[in-house]
Amino acid sequence: MKRDPNPFKPFAVSRPAPGMFEVPALGMDAESLDQDIRRYFGTFLGQDKHCRLAYYPYRALALALRDRLLERLKQTRYAYEEAGAKHAYYLSLEFLMGRTLNNALLNLGLVENTENVLRQLGLDIEELIDNESDAGLGNGGLGRLAACFLDSCATLQLPVTGYGIRYEYGMFRQRIENGRQIEEPDHWLRNGNPWEIERPEHSRRIQFGGHTEYHRDANGQLHVRWVDSKDVLAVPFDTPVPGYRNGTVNVLRLWKAAATDEFDLGEFNAGSYTESVAAKNAAENITMVLYPNDASENGKELRLRQQYFLASASLQDILQRWVLQHGKEFSRFAELNCFQLNDTHPSCAVPELMRLLLDEHGLSWDAAWAIVSRTMAYTNHTLLPEALEKWSVRLFGQLLPRLLEIIYEINARFLKEVARRWPGDNARLARMSLVEEGRDPAIRMAYLAIVGSFSVNGVAELHSALLQQGLFRDFHELWPTKFNNKTNGVTQRRWLASANPRLAALISERIGDGWVTRLDDLHGLAPSADDAAFRTRWAEVRYANKQRLADLVKRDCHVDFDPQALFDVQVKRIHEYKRQLLNVLHVIHLYARIKNGELTDFTPRCVLIGGKAAPGYFMAKRIITLICKVADMVNDDAEVGGLLKLAFLPNYRVSAMEIIAPGSDLSEQISTAGKEASGTGNMKFMMNGGVTIGTLDGANIEIRDEVGDDNFFLFGLTAEQVEVTRDHYNPEAIIDTDPDLARVMALIESGHFNQLEPGLFDPVIKAIRSPHDPWLTAADFRSYVDAQERAAAAYRDRDGWMRMSILNTAASGKFSTDRTMREYNAEIWHLPVVKVEA
Ligand SMILES: *Cc1c(COP(=O)(O)O)cnc(C)c1O
Repeated sequence: MKRDPNPFKPFAVSRPAPGMFEVPALGMDAESLDQDIRRYFGTFLGQDKHCRLAYYPYRALALALRDRLLERLKQTRYAYEEAGAKHAYYLSLEFLMGRTLNNALLNLGLVENTENVLRQLGLDIEELIDNESDAGLGNGGLGRLAACFLDSCATLQLPVTGYGIRYEYGMFRQRIENGRQIEEPDHWLRNGNPWEIERPEHSRRIQFGGHTEYHRDANGQLHVRWVDSKDVLAVPFDTPVPGYRNGTVNVLRLWKAAATDEFDLGEFNAGSYTESVAAKNAAENITMVLYPNDASENGKELRLRQQYFLASASLQDILQRWVLQHGKEFSRFAELNCFQLNDTHPSCAVPELMRLLLDEHGLSWDAAWAIVSRTMAYTNHTLLPEALEKWSVRLFGQLLPRLLEIIYEINARFLKEVARRWPGDNARLARMSLVEEGRDPAIRMAYLAIVGSFSVNGVAELHSALLQQGLFRDFHELWPTKFNNKTNGVTQRRWLASANPRLAALISERIGDGWVTRLDDLHGLAPSADDAAFRTRWAEVRYANKQRLADLVKRDCHVDFDPQALFDVQVKRIHEYKRQLLNVLHVIHLYARIKNGELTDFTPRCVLIGGKAAPGYFMAKRIITLICKVADMVNDDAEVGGLLKLAFLPNYRVSAMEIIAPGSDLSEQISTAGKEASGTGNMKFMMNGGVTIGTLDGANIEIRDEVGDDNFFLFGLTAEQVEVTRDHYNPEAIIDTDPDLARVMALIESGHFNQLEPGLFDPVIKAIRSPHDPWLTAADFRSYVDAQERAAAAYRDRDGWMRMSILNTAASGKFSTDRTMREYNAEIWHLPVVKVEA
């Protein structure tokens, strides 16, 4: 018996009269908004004069805006259908969207009208904004990149849909207790989500477990059936993604897992009602929680379920729409569809698309492979070997038996191609095989993604070059033209226009507001760096933003930051390769200078560090503790007083970054060279007038190329030097010959920062002193401290600093995701721009 792929059929099929779809356009004027907000508030939400919660007006406003978004979403869909346009799908296990309200207002062009309406209603827009919880459906840069991409694609009017998972619990909330990270569940949906719309009629059935059966039809054709599986339903929720004032609204479709109807029948008939309900829970578990590991995989079965669940639901959705329009004719499918895989996380899409085309739609292997290998494109995000996903063949076979067969067939055909090219080179065959042999054989997901894709890209020039020379060298030799670079960006709509309204207004006053959609226009600001009156106004705006950040630090860290001081900021995931440790060593060095009266040329400095550590990452958590303990010592000391502050900001997230980036002077981008694929935090700071202190790593290199060496504080070993240093690395010798570093180490080793907890920082000390330290912390200390001194001296010349700040913003035009998306489109997707009727 063939089971229905979508059991949602509560109604008989009906075809309403055309009048059903003819709805007058909603007004964008203040009066229409005012009416809708009050109607949602009073009737839909059932509120009255006793309501004292800003939450309800927030929700009423969100619903009024969602109506206007959905109206445009429909027009956009019609426009894509009418154009018969090629479509790209961005498949990602993470979309770190943050809040939606402010962005929706900006892109719909409703900021001013809404402010006026709310003022009339006695409401404060900032208060309403603060009622929205972040959609934290991502870990860090990779997830935030996906969110910025969606904004830029809609703004460029490209037919692109995002596909992801609607996690019930997003990235954990971080609290700090006695210097320790405490993880709390982030139940972001508790108060409902007014931006999404459920589409149960597009639910899909996803198979897990079971086994395969082969049979021949009357024509002798071999067919495969995947049977006895335990199925789960995927139910889609759509979030509108508006372009900037252009009528386009694209879709982010997120899948939630639900139990199928027959799921519990077996149990129920056996009389175990409660067990059947428990089984239902197990099905829904799949989309319960985001895995909080950034740049490391951990091989858990539930994670593989999530990955397949996303790939299968999305591909079925796309194929169903294709069949409705074109029937079972797939000859133009590759011409009109393209899939971008955000890292290897969704790379089950390669064998899953094969399976659907072979088993469900009856294509031959060659016809199916021709489609898969012309529609899949893969973006790599990391060079760290511990991040490369591998799935045990045993687990894979149990969970996805049909997919494993298909992967074996892909591998057999692929290895034949390698053997033809390099006859007799068995070592190469073993190196390149999709299956890593050994005691517990594993599928190499990155290799699967490369073999299945027509494009493989890195995310900054250096990263893409290192991929080709290192990690994927064999594949680059085989298929040199597959590999390319797409340097990351960030959207200036969120990260400048919306996060920094004061600076945005000053920029627009000077050069017009074209930069909102053409960030290169910012080059026009450069001459104003020489205008003293403009520098003064720039300084005033920055001061106000620093005050706003100081308020956040006061509220969340109970530390006083003086906006006159240099604001030195490092916010990002806590990871050894990002070297928050190097930053603390510098803070301890400054502390030692103060305590020893070495105060000549001392620039008052407030250091802010924030970020989450993966819950199982011991060393990252210990580094957080070190930061907190040093902060306690520094901030409590009257002698240190106005010269130095250190704060650890808990629960770093998108909405916090919207306050942090505009209020930071110095942007810390200090990873060990060759380890940070691109970075995007670096771009947000630069765009907001922050000056970078950084290594030649990731996009830092391109940032420095754009802004010039005079406006960037460079330090540290290059990626090449890092690799040669490893072989003869001797941190003990470095510590012995550098009195500043020796003094810092002695302070930590004396137990000065952990008087009540002896030995607390022994693991950190050991890591710094180890000749096998992969991050070469001691090697870069001297050069880092020297660069910090140059930065401090530059900041003492306040006017000179403002010049640098302006020049950084002016040079940030390249780092818009508008540019990134244009490149993806010109070189990978080839989508038409589709205008939408107003
Ligand atoms: C931009 C951003 C990141 C990425 O920061 P990097 O410095 O590039 O690692 C991570 N988390 C959040 C919340 C961000 O906004």
